[in-house]
Amino acid sequence: MKATVIDGKAFAATVRTKVAEHVTRLKEVHGITPGLAVVLLGEDPASQVYVRSKGKMTVEVGMNSFEHKLDAQTSEEDLLALIAKLNADQDVHGILVQLPLPGHLDSDLVINSIDPAKDVDGFHISNVGLLGTGQKSMVPCTPLGCLMMLRDHHGSLSGMNAVVVGRSNIVGKPMAQLLLGDSCTVTIAHSRTKDLPAVVRQADIVVAAVGRPQMIPGDWIKPGATVIDVGINRIDKPEGGTRLVGDADYDSCAAVAGAITPVPGGVGPMTIACLLANTVTACCRANGLKEPEGLTA
Ligand code: NDP
Repeated sequence: MKATVIDGKAFAATVRTKVAEHVTRLKEVHGITPGLAVVLLGEDPASQVYVRSKGKMTVEVGMNSFEHKLDAQTSEEDLLALIAKLNADQDVHGILVQLPLPGHLDSDLVINSIDPAKDVDGFHISNVGLLGTGQKSMVPCTPLGCLMMLRDHHGSLSGMNAVVVGRSNIVGKPMAQLLLGDSCTVTIAHSRTKDLPAVVRQADIVVAAVGRPQMIPGDWIKPGATVIDVGINRIDKPEGGTRLVGDADYDSCAAVAGAITPVPGGVGPMTIACLLANTVTACCRANGLKEPEGLTA
C-alpha cells in the first residue's frame, strides 16, 4: 500500500481563498474589514519569521494587519495596557500574542487578558472551557487545521479510533477535544504511556504532536490508518546542512498508512490559514453576522 499524501499546502491555499472571498463580502456588503493584531516581543528569529508571514498572508486575503513589535524587556504592565487597547479597538477582531514570551512575563496572565472573542489562538481559559464543553469557541489553529484536513479526507470521523500522541495545551489536548466532538473514540498518549506502539496500532487516526524527529515508525501504524504529523523537527543531513522532518518516520509510515501529511507541506501551512479563518469568524461574530461555512470546528 502507498498512502495518499494529504497536501496541506494546497488545502491551506483553498482555505485562504475561502477566507478572502468572505473578506470581500464583508467589505462590499457590510463595509467591514477584518483586522488581526499580532504582538511580538523581542528578537527571536523564528518568531520574527512567523510574524512576518502571518502579516503578509493577512494582507493577501484582504484583511488589515496591525503589527506591534515591542522590546524584549517590555514590562507586564505595558503589555497588558497594549492588550487592553486592542481589546477596545473596534478595527481589531483578532489578537495574537506570539509565544513564547520572555521569561519575566506570566504567559497565562497575558493570554487571559485578551478578550476571549478576539482570542484567535484559542488559548484563553474561557475558550479552553468552551471547547471542552462542546460549545462555540475560538479553536487553536493547529488542531483546527488537522481537523479540517481529516474531515476533508474522510468526510465523517464518527466512530473512528483516534490516538493523539502528545498532551500539550496548544496541540494535543485541543486536538483530542475536537476529535471527541466529531465522535471519535479518543486516546491521548504521552511520555508515560505504557506500550505506546500497541496503543498507536489501535488507531484509525494517529495525530503525532511530540516534537521528536521520526519517532513513530511504520510498524506502529495500522494498515490503512491516517497519520497527521504535527511535528516540526530540524535534523542534520548526512551530506551536510539540515532538513525538516516530522514526528512520524515518513517513508515507513507512508508504506503502511492509508493517508499521511508530509513535513514540510502538511499541518504547517494549515496553521496560518486557520489563524486567518479564525479572524474572519471572530469578525463575523463581533458584528452579529453569519459565520463562514467550513472554516470553524
Ligand atoms: P510539547 O513539547 O508542549 O508537548 C510534547 C508532548 O509530547 C508532551 O505531551 C510529551 O509528553 C509528549 N512526549 C514527549 N516525548 C514522548 C515520548 N517519547 N512518547 C510519547 N509522548 C511523548 O510540544 P507541542 O505540542 O507544542 O508541539 C509538538 C510538536 O508539534 C513540535 O515538534 C512542534 O514544533 C510542533 N508544532 C507544529 C505546529 C505546526 O504549525 N505544524 C504548531 C505547534 C507545534 P509529557 O506531557 O508526558 O511530557
